[in-house]
Amino acid sequence: MSTHDQNPYEIVKKLLSESVEQLGLDESIYHILKKPMRVMEVSIPIRKEDGSVENYTGYRSQHLDVLGPCKGGIRFHPSVTLDEVKALSIWMSLKSAIIELPLGGGKGGVIVNPEDLNQRDLEELSRSYIRKITPVIGPEKDIPAPDMNTTPEIMAWMIDEYDKLRGYNIPGLITGKPIIIGGSEGRLDATGRGVVIHIREAANALNIDLSRATAALQGFGNVGSATAKFLHESGVKVVAVTDVSGGIYKEEGLNIPALLEFIGEGNVIADFKECESISNEEMFALPVDILIPAALENQITSETAPSIQAKIVAEAANGPTTPEGNRILEEKGTFIIPDILCNAGGVTVSYFEWVQNTMNYYWKEERVNKELEEKMIAAFKRVYEMKENKGCEMRQAAYMVGIRHLVLALQARGWIQNGDLSKL
Ligand code: NAD
Repeated sequence: MSTHDQNPYEIVKKLLSESVEQLGLDESIYHILKKPMRVMEVSIPIRKEDGSVENYTGYRSQHLDVLGPCKGGIRFHPSVTLDEVKALSIWMSLKSAIIELPLGGGKGGVIVNPEDLNQRDLEELSRSYIRKITPVIGPEKDIPAPDMNTTPEIMAWMIDEYDKLRGYNIPGLITGKPIIIGGSEGRLDATGRGVVIHIREAANALNIDLSRATAALQGFGNVGSATAKFLHESGVKVVAVTDVSGGIYKEEGLNIPALLEFIGEGNVIADFKECESISNEEMFALPVDILIPAALENQITSETAPSIQAKIVAEAANGPTTPEGNRILEEKGTFIIPDILCNAGGVTVSYFEWVQNTMNYYWKEERVNKELEEKMIAAFKRVYEMKENKGCEMRQAAYMVGIRHLVLALQARGWIQNGDLSKL
């Protein structure tokens, strides 16, 4: 497989182009949507605790703000690239549009393996990155959040640095903060909670009884662990989980509460006892009903897709399926819940957090969860109806729902003068 096939920016552009065409829209819409409106590259030299100086590279991409300020996470990972950050910002625009949030798409990243840094150096890097992107962010401009390898603690360092620079407390700058400094109840679990709501809606559509269903998960970080918790609570038997350390399998079902406690104590999956070890490839091929990639991009590929037996693939991660992997699953009739729908619970509760910060009035967790559930169900319905109406797959339907919403905003702002939107 060529790297072009795995470049998320090339993948998202192709899907945008196909969806614009299928909606019967003018090609100029594709040319507006394909490029982020603003991209920043920053150099982040930090002096480490051992006295050495290292210069890291970071990015922030802001895709489109026709619906509201840009919004999206910050990723710390060695494989971050500019194209990846651009693609992720476009996915954020589509995600917010599908959920009908008044937000645009943004994303940031730093090329770093956080495991190589001690706590003091990680804090220095987090504060330095935010200093560099300060001119382009703010509660009315672009609101960052956590993503891979970034945590509420890192969000707290970042907002503290921003507040110091601006001279006052601006809680709406960043979401995914600790609750004590303006975070929202329910944010930590929101992405996983949303993933499981979509799995439930898909199971209803496919007449699958979740209380008899089995699942396997790749990734047990923020998203994967919360997804496993809510699957377990829904009666689903989670038989396999992998993370960066390895994987575990138990045919009778893993003890998820015990595993959550074990990981919460700072352990890794591979050290969890009384289960068999399993590789990512073996996990993908298990005869389960639901498969959930919740780690990295480009995991379901021409190599791994042929062995997948799951009826539902719930894309909790961003971009876990390559176009070729997608084609193979579609041919098998696998029901894919696409990433831009499946993991949108995170941005939804981040939106609630920003609303609460702006109002300076905080909601109880029941309200957060209830409003999240309403928004997830409505979005699933919009995408499913588009799929039924157009006779297409869920991924393309999700793109079309997102594009339709963005196009209506573009038209309202006069960007599209005489466009014929009647087919929308
Ligand atoms: P995280 O850093 O908390 O967890 C990542 C997990 O992936 C870890 O368990 C890690 O061990 C595992 N992993 C890494 N490499 C792996 C490998 N080769 N095989 C198996 N597992 C591996 O990150 P997260 O916040 O849970 O994000 C996971 C995915 O979900 C990303 O694609 C992210 O963009 C997406 N996402 C996150 C949020 C959010 O709210 N955090 C929201 C929407 C989408």
